[in-house]
Amino acid sequence: RGGAAEPVIPFAQPESLTRVIAVASGKGGVGKSTVTANLAVAMAQQGLRVGVLDADIYGFSIPRMLGVTNRPTKVEDMILPPVAHDVKVISIGMFTPEGQAVVWRGPMLHRALQQFLADVYWGDLDVLLLDLPPGTGDVAISVAQLLPGAEMLVVTTPQVAAADVAARAGAISQQTRQRVIGVVENMSWLTQSDGTRMELFGEGGGSAVAQQLTAALGHEVPLLAQIPLDMTVRQGGDIGAPVAGIAVSEPGSETEGATALRT
Ligand code: ADP
Repeated sequence: RGGAAEPVIPFAQPESLTRVIAVASGKGGVGKSTVTANLAVAMAQQGLRVGVLDADIYGFSIPRMLGVTNRPTKVEDMILPPVAHDVKVISIGMFTPEGQAVVWRGPMLHRALQQFLADVYWGDLDVLLLDLPPGTGDVAISVAQLLPGAEMLVVTTPQVAAADVAARAGAISQQTRQRVIGVVENMSWLTQSDGTRMELFGEGGGSAVAQQLTAALGHEVPLLAQIPLDMTVRQGGDIGAPVAGIAVSEPGSETEGATALRT
């Protein structure tokens, strides 16, 4: 009826070979972006062609974590994503005036996401990771609409009190019919100098979320990994050198956190 045609999203085509994984969490600060960034670098090191779309409008920490300093460039109608650690990166934060808070409303967000998926020249990717904002907001629903084949990975902490909110973020896939691949528990413990583990945030949150989602979705949702608290994980994120990349650049400096993030 006269309106402009919907932009074509290559990843949404039936013949697309790209696996799209949306990384979700119930609340902020649990390490969702850290897991996304490290997963991306680890997969790129295994030879996979990886892209990251940072759709966390409140956080957009992905560029800093991956050490991206360049802005995207425009060639004709295409946006070329900057590359860091062999990962192509687009962040909603790259399109906002420096230092300004963003007030995105649902329809605007949907359009921005649509543009990042249709107008960015991603090339052939094996995996596209999406860093979602925390919670069960508009972005998760837009992702489901724009990318019906996307799968979901849920990041949570060991805190059982936060399990419900994390499970809700995953259970949105019930409405959108996306598959939840599994749960990653982050900040699981701190290894002390005598080798014992201090469970700062309690224990059991990851498996509680996995169980709740398995029951709610009617398919097995496994607890895939537990990542300990490790200072090098935070430092790597601060300086744009994810620990998942450490073993290659600095052999011998492998830490517990780095090992967990790679496996
Ligand atoms: P989210 O994306 O869930 O808001 P972030 O990934 O930004 O959370 O992580 C919040 C903070 O915690 C960051 O400073 C990050 O470096 C730090 N962090 C995340 N995971 C770990 C970990 N396993 N060990 C130490 N610090 C971590």
